Formats: sequence, C-alpha cells, structure tokens
Amino acid sequence: MAIPIQFPFLLRFFFLFSLCSFSVSDSDSLSAHQHHVFPRPLIVEYAGVAEVAEEVRLRCGAWRVAGEANNLGEWKTVPEVCVEYVKEYMTGKGYLVDLEMVSKEAEEYAKSVKLSDDGKDAWIFDIDETLLSNLPYYAAHGYGLEVFDHEKFNDWVETGGAPAIEPSLKLYEDVLNLGFKVILLTGRSERHRSVTVDNLVNAGFKEWDQLILRSSADQGKRAVLFKSEKRNEMEKDGYRILGNSGDQWSDLLGSSLSVRSFKLPNPMYYIP
Ligand SMILES: [Mg+2]
Repeated sequence: MAIPIQFPFLLRFFFLFSLCSFSVSDSDSLSAHQHHVFPRPLIVEYAGVAEVAEEVRLRCGAWRVAGEANNLGEWKTVPEVCVEYVKEYMTGKGYLVDLEMVSKEAEEYAKSVKLSDDGKDAWIFDIDETLLSNLPYYAAHGYGLEVFDHEKFNDWVETGGAPAIEPSLKLYEDVLNLGFKVILLTGRSERHRSVTVDNLVNAGFKEWDQLILRSSADQGKRAVLFKSEKRNEMEKDGYRILGNSGDQWSDLLGSSLSVRSFKLPNPMYYIP
C-alpha cells in the first residue's frame, strides 16, 4: 500500500539533496582555487546533510505519530526511509519512555476504579508487543520493513524466548494486586498455547483468569472481529471489562469495548 507521506516527502528530500549537491560543487570549485584557505568551507556541505537528516527525522516522527493515532489506515510496512528512525526509536529511550507513560496512565486509572467484590472486574491484556516483546525477531527482520511472514514469525514464537515488556509487567502486577481479574487475549494460535504459557511464566507473568487464543474456528477472522467476539463472550459471562491494554487498534476497537483502553506504541507493524 502506498504511504501517503512518501511522494511529497521524497520530492522534498531530493530538493534538499540537490541543494546539498550545489553546496558541494561550490565548495569544490572554491577549494580548487583557494585550497590553502583555512578553515575550508566544509560547514556548507554539512549544513545541507544535517538539514536532510532533520527533515527525515521530522517526517518519520510525523509518520509514527500518525500511525499511533490510527490516521494511516491499514499500513503494510515501515517506509524504507524511516527504517533507521524506527530502529533508533525502538532500541533507544523513546520506545521505553512511551511505554512507561502508557503504563503509568493505566495504573492511575486502575487505582481510581472502585472494584466490586464479585470478582468480575476484568483487565484485558494483549500479548505480543504488549506483555511480551518480539523486538529480537523484528531486529533481524528490518524493524517492520519486511512484509510480515507468518512462518518465520511462528518459528520465533516457538522458541518461547520473548522477553517481558517491563512497564507492562509492572502494570500487570499492579492490576492483579488491586484485585482485577486478568484476561489475556491474543491473536496467537491455540497450537501455541503451551509455548506461550511457558514464555509468559518465564518472563514473569504467572497468573491470569483466562488465556484466550485463536481456535481453529477463529482462523482467518480479522483481529478486530475475533477480539470483539471474545470480549462479548466475557460480558455474557458477567465480566465488566474496565481496562484493556494492546499495541494494536484492533485490540481496542470494535464492539464490547472496555471502559478505558490503553494503546501501547508499535511503529513496526499494523494488524487490522
Ligand atoms: Mg499485540
């Protein structure tokens, strides 16, 4: 799918790049005549490069925010020009700080809720990029540049080696301590139940009321429908869904919505 920012952005990129080339040419001709002059006017060349880098950073930042706000629709891959930006965001402090913000806000809300004593106040967590991080897999697959490959991703899931997302582990412990019933709702297949349980426990998630995976009847359903149906079943079972944490809008939208939803950052992929 075409990324809306790409065309005007690339025009702008080439425009800036051409400015940069002129600068280099000018300095080349200058240095041919005045190579003895110090300092040489390298600053002219670097100003152009820095301008382009800043433009890329701003445009890719705008792309990421638009994705988080669900303004991009069903995007398929990270724009090629933004792969480095996404890598820096995911492996630097940006991603962690954003996760901490979501976790903190969710915790404040959770603490503000008056729970009933019937054990039916529920908090739903998605698993991938919500409780468990697949960053080691995506680091080896272009941070979202590659089109999603189910087989390769399943091979990774079957290693059971996904680490915890620490701010989510903290929120998970907080909501359990407050008395919520935790329900894990994931698009992972039922055949991965055992490896998923082991992975969760090894990562520090040791207690939940239900772990709901895709059964064979759920295969092929869009995530937003699958998760809405499961929330609807929870409501029929008497649960009040007070909180819902997920890295995809399809974890949070649809029907039988949670009272409050918390969207974790994920600029690497989009699941409709
Ligand atoms: Mg997820």
